[in-house]
Amino acid sequence: MAMERERLEAEVLIIGAGPAGLACALHLANLVEQHAARNQSAVLSTENIYVVEKGREVGAHQLSGAILDPRALGELVPDFEKSAPLDTPVTGDAAYYLTQRSAYKLPITPPPLRNHGNYIVSLNKLVKWLGGLVEKKGINLFTQFAGRELIYEKDGISGVITEDKGVDKNGKPKDNFTPGYELRAKVTVLAEGPRGSLAKDLTARLKLDGFNPQVYGIGIKELWEVEAGRIETGYVAHTLGWPFPSDLYGGGWIYGLRDRRVSVGTVVGLEYKNPLFDPHEAFQKFKTHPFVRRILEGGRLVRYGAKTVPYGGWYSMPRTYFDGGLIVGDSASLLNSQRLKGIHTAIKSGMLAAEAIYEALSAGDTSARKLSAYQQKIEQSWLKKELWEVRNFHQGFHGGLWTGLVHAGFQFISGGRGLVDPMRTRAGYQDYEKLSGRGESVESPTRFKGDGQLTFDRLTDVYHSGTRHDEDQPCHLVVLEPNVCGDRCVREYGNPCQYFCPAAVYEMVREKGETRLKINAANCVHCKTCDIADPYQIIQWVPPEGGGGPNYEGM
Ligand SMILES: Cc1cc2nc3c(=O)[nH]c(=O)nc-3n(C[C@H](O)[C@H](O)[C@H](O)COP(=O)(O)OP(=O)(O)OC[C@H]3O[C@@H](n4cnc5c(N)ncnc54)[C@H](O)[C@@H]3O)c2cc1C
Repeated sequence: MAMERERLEAEVLIIGAGPAGLACALHLANLVEQHAARNQSAVLSTENIYVVEKGREVGAHQLSGAILDPRALGELVPDFEKSAPLDTPVTGDAAYYLTQRSAYKLPITPPPLRNHGNYIVSLNKLVKWLGGLVEKKGINLFTQFAGRELIYEKDGISGVITEDKGVDKNGKPKDNFTPGYELRAKVTVLAEGPRGSLAKDLTARLKLDGFNPQVYGIGIKELWEVEAGRIETGYVAHTLGWPFPSDLYGGGWIYGLRDRRVSVGTVVGLEYKNPLFDPHEAFQKFKTHPFVRRILEGGRLVRYGAKTVPYGGWYSMPRTYFDGGLIVGDSASLLNSQRLKGIHTAIKSGMLAAEAIYEALSAGDTSARKLSAYQQKIEQSWLKKELWEVRNFHQGFHGGLWTGLVHAGFQFISGGRGLVDPMRTRAGYQDYEKLSGRGESVESPTRFKGDGQLTFDRLTDVYHSGTRHDEDQPCHLVVLEPNVCGDRCVREYGNPCQYFCPAAVYEMVREKGETRLKINAANCVHCKTCDIADPYQIIQWVPPEGGGGPNYEGM
């Protein structure tokens, strides 16, 4: 029997309060004001714009490096430098190739890694600030609400149902049970970030996939407070090489922030061959390199987090418009993977979406045909130019680091074309090699423990992510065929979920002579790696009760 739900009607509904969603909301409000100033009748009032965000507060789920290219922010908020929380301008940058013991500085910093004119920021703080601007405009911003299920209508959508609150782990209502809301809107914008659970469902149902499937990397980051004099404020270093094998796409960074804070992290393409590769362990090893160690040693870990990055670029972009809706930012694969920058592209896409929405509402037509103006606007803007120049970048690394660099060189001199254009790719989980083929087996896996000072095990790191979930709720990591885990997956791949999950959510336990999967869902940092990297594609990440998840304060 269908549950009775409170129904709310908006003109525009935005799911996700990241840079893309908030830029869309704020730019819509700016357009409303600009039209009012010209005495044109309003097609929209700001209280009819709703934004829903699953984090406990705006910014709680924001994790990024983060170096901000201010181009789009300057278009959205022209005087942003007066009030935005910009930690520090970049004062110098360098790129290094690491071997286990040495760091070789490249004689010149490759152009994509040059950051003159950019800022190092905490995305958590920047997004909180943007959220404040959005709320000042009278837009309704609801935190602690997750969009759980889209309301489908013919060839499109007309809103979302938020998650039911107060359901116990067996699916039974608790005393505080509240059914989710039915939020209806003329236009719904999916701004869920990488591997959005709603966007994934929608892309499959409406067959929106682009030329290539979406592919991802996983970024793991720690924020440190270090001893004085260890790194210059505003200094940016990027690394290639150790501890990553050369058949794998991976690199590291270390950025000097104000107040002796340091952002340190690694990113790895989720398309490696070895199913036992452990991105968290690789990150911990990275910190033991003399180049990184000398900066961190004697300092203290402040925060930890992990999140996926959409690496596919232009050729992985799904169709971004459909009846009653649009997809923006990371959810639409609009990140420049060569520069590892997606904040400015997310903001720009949100703004272009706002312009298309405003025009559609003015014309009283929110069909796919009318909303396709969004895609045209992308194609006519600098967003296309920037992404087009790197359209084959990530695919070029499929054969490993060295062939990737050769491809990158040819692409650089040919405006992105390179040796093959367009370059095909496939979903990363298809690249795993079976253990039998690698001559490996997993009898009793040993897990990285860390020294508790410079390096840490997963649970210590999860503790530093501020993650919190009500444990008495249905598991939000839905394994569609649990028998596969204890049987086929053990033999074929050695249960990679235990290794790729950076939050110790997945554990294989032996009970009564059988091996079974135990899911510690309360640890989940919402990175979505499991949904992406599971070899059988049987793990489905769905949003838990709103307000749960990490708290990336200052990250
Ligand atoms: C480790 C790492 C380092 C990076 N470094 C840089 C960098 O230095 N510079 C740079 O420019 N970019 C960087 N990026 C990329 C950048 O952070 C993203 O491109 C950018 O944040 C994308 O913005 P977005 O709004 O599309 O998505 P997100 O920032 O992911 O925001 C999406 C929001 O939607 C919410 N949400 C998701 N699903 C739902 C739902 N169903 N219901 C309600 N809410 C939902 C999430 O909680 C989140 O708050 C980095 C990314 C990572 C992971």
